[in-house]
Amino acid sequence: MRPVAARIIDGKAVAAAVRERVRAEVAELPSPPGLATILVGDDPASAVYVRMKREDSAEVGIDSYHHEPGGDVGQDELAALIASLNADERVHGILLQLPLPGHLDQGPLIGMIDPAKDVDGLTPVNAGLLAQGRPEAMVSCTPIGVMELLRETGVELEGARAVVIGRSILVGKPLAALLLAANATVTHCHSRTRDLASICREADVVIAAAGKPDLITGEMVREGAVVIDVGTNRVDGKLVGDVDFDSVAARAAAITPVPGGVGPMTRAMLLVNTLAAARRGV
Ligand code: NAD
Repeated sequence: MRPVAARIIDGKAVAAAVRERVRAEVAELPSPPGLATILVGDDPASAVYVRMKREDSAEVGIDSYHHEPGGDVGQDELAALIASLNADERVHGILLQLPLPGHLDQGPLIGMIDPAKDVDGLTPVNAGLLAQGRPEAMVSCTPIGVMELLRETGVELEGARAVVIGRSILVGKPLAALLLAANATVTHCHSRTRDLASICREADVVIAAAGKPDLITGEMVREGAVVIDVGTNRVDGKLVGDVDFDSVAARAAAITPVPGGVGPMTRAMLLVNTLAAARRGV
């Protein structure tokens, strides 16, 4: 194993500071913010994520309203639930846990969420606002968590060469838009990109969000780059990212671990978005 040269970015510590800030701000509000969670089906990972989000909410004083309509719920019934939460004044954020079971058409259901309550930033309205660089856009939690971690490293994004790997609407696309808004020069890579290695080697900031273990290795990263690993993959029962940690840490200036990097930030930023939605609704 080569020596670790990089600073290891402690996502847990940054997330704890964010949660403290949210808790203090929530305490100042006249009434608690409310977060509605909708869990459909019996995916165990989804159940764990939703439970953690509700626990996080309780810890900072956000009320949670949980709905489990059952795995065989129909499109219309789920649409009616979303409509009722849109109309519920106690609810400032709506989180529809994805993926939905195959018999449901995800896109129209996401599109029904009131954009002002879209704390996951998934609606076309919020994606459009973000693409236009509008400050009122509600942006998905993982990308804003990554931006917070980048701020923590002190890396100068203005004019920096940033490579984003992955183009999902949840992570890659909003992240590329945020980096562009921060005046980075963004190269957006994906599964059809040719010669990922040479593109990464040019970058000051590399963000991997592909869901492919060991996609990014030490030889692909230039000395002194900042590397953020969004990937969460299970390999032999162990959680790993998209970055080969040891070889990259030997060259990078800063790197996020998996677990303990981006994951805790994603959870913390949901609280930030819910608070922001409640403030706008106050
Ligand atoms: P996704 O499957 O929707 O998208 C993956 C993207 O990676 C696609 O755009 C694809 O083009 C690209 N890709 C796939 N293989 C590639 C390759 N070999 N080279 C270059 N690009 C490639 O996934 P997602 O929802 O964007 O999530 C990405 C990863 O991040 C997953 O591992 C997911 O579990 C993880 N994730 C982590 C958090 C967190 O909080 N840590 C949050 C969301 C997602």
